[in-house]
Amino acid sequence: MKGSTLKIDGARFILTLDGQRRIVENGSILVQDGRIQRIDKASVMQGITADRVIQARDMVVTPGFCNNHMHISYAHAVRGIFPDNLDPTVYLGHVFALQQAMTEEDEYYTSLLGITELVKYGTTCFVDPGSTKFLDVCLQAYDKAGCRIVVGDSVVDRPNPLKLPVYSTSEAIRRIETTIEKYDGRLDGHVRAWAMPFDSAYCSDALLLEAKRIADHRGVGLTLHQANRPGNITFYRETHNTRPVLYLDRLGILGPNVLLAHVVDVDDAEIDAIARTNTKTVMCPPASLKMGSRTVHTARFPEMVAKGICVSLGTDAGNNSNLLDPLRSVYLTAVLYKDSRGTTDVVPAEMALEAGTREGPRALGLERELGSLEVGKRADLVLFDTRRPEWRSLFNPVNALVYAADGRSVHTVIIDGRVVVENHQATFVNEGELVDKVQSLGEGLLARTGVTFGPRWPVV
Ligand SMILES: [Zn+2]
Repeated sequence: MKGSTLKIDGARFILTLDGQRRIVENGSILVQDGRIQRIDKASVMQGITADRVIQARDMVVTPGFCNNHMHISYAHAVRGIFPDNLDPTVYLGHVFALQQAMTEEDEYYTSLLGITELVKYGTTCFVDPGSTKFLDVCLQAYDKAGCRIVVGDSVVDRPNPLKLPVYSTSEAIRRIETTIEKYDGRLDGHVRAWAMPFDSAYCSDALLLEAKRIADHRGVGLTLHQANRPGNITFYRETHNTRPVLYLDRLGILGPNVLLAHVVDVDDAEIDAIARTNTKTVMCPPASLKMGSRTVHTARFPEMVAKGICVSLGTDAGNNSNLLDPLRSVYLTAVLYKDSRGTTDVVPAEMALEAGTREGPRALGLERELGSLEVGKRADLVLFDTRRPEWRSLFNPVNALVYAADGRSVHTVIIDGRVVVENHQATFVNEGELVDKVQSLGEGLLARTGVTFGPRWPVV
């Protein structure tokens, strides 16, 4: 509603993540027409009224979290069915075969449940790396939830072990172009559409080059999977006599509007190429750990940040990491490197929290609007209820948030000034009905495709 105001009144701490990283103790926030109009001490803003006032005593307020790699549309219907010792290539083959069998109805409800989980635990903006088939119908789910999403059409033009559909190069290019044209800027700009070649190993040079040209020409981003799996490194050494990221650099694919996903096992020369070209990155620690990517040995988060590289966080799909809570990614980022480097003097809690919040929109080119709580920015906020055992006793809100809390303490989520989670419940959907619906759609999908995996233990 034009002119409508919302006031967050008297929060215990506001973590602004602004230029000075100010923490406002006993602070209030005034929102008008979806933008932050004022942030100050509650005592100073005492006389200011609003159409709606949220009492935030004992709350910690943060910017919305950003998940820059999350396949939203297929996991929840069949979540957790795969044994945890299945080789990633084998189970990703199953994942994409199941995804191909999904109907419009399957995708709509599965996406809605995925989004509900993300939003409920504090994610306000995310990248779906091009795996949604029925964007028209899923657009209704995005609208309902009010989330910010980057979509695309993930394409390949080479045979691949993941069973992704192989298009001709010209058809793949046409699909990229049509998707951007049709969806970029939809839902009042909440939806952005990008070029999304799936993975450089499964795309021809011509497709990669044209995808980059389209992204540059249209002023949008490009994301692709860039996990330097052992097979990938061997493939590039044998076919191009170089490393995967150096090959992309040589081709001219890297750049400030490019987001590389996973970025595990990069060497110094590859890090230099990413830094020099101002290419953005997203790491998904819960997925890398679960998929045996040797991330504790080969991921280079501290070195990349030290070089000025924008490293944002993601989770990957609900059947890769299975954990979609943004605070799990933040926590893992804060602890992984302390363990692997044998020192506590690496990746402080503040750096991990920056990766989960302000670095996310920066990786998407949205840092002028999102990522910190500052006057003029969009009002995407998360309110954590600290009257819970895991938050107490409360003295240092950053340490409490990163090391002790998780998404279950998210009390209220606001996107663009709209309250989408209130008192731990999504406001846009009946969660009970939705989980029942997706359970039955998942059972139907498994029956249709014949995919069966059961628990290892006997179900009696
Ligand atoms: Zn992915």
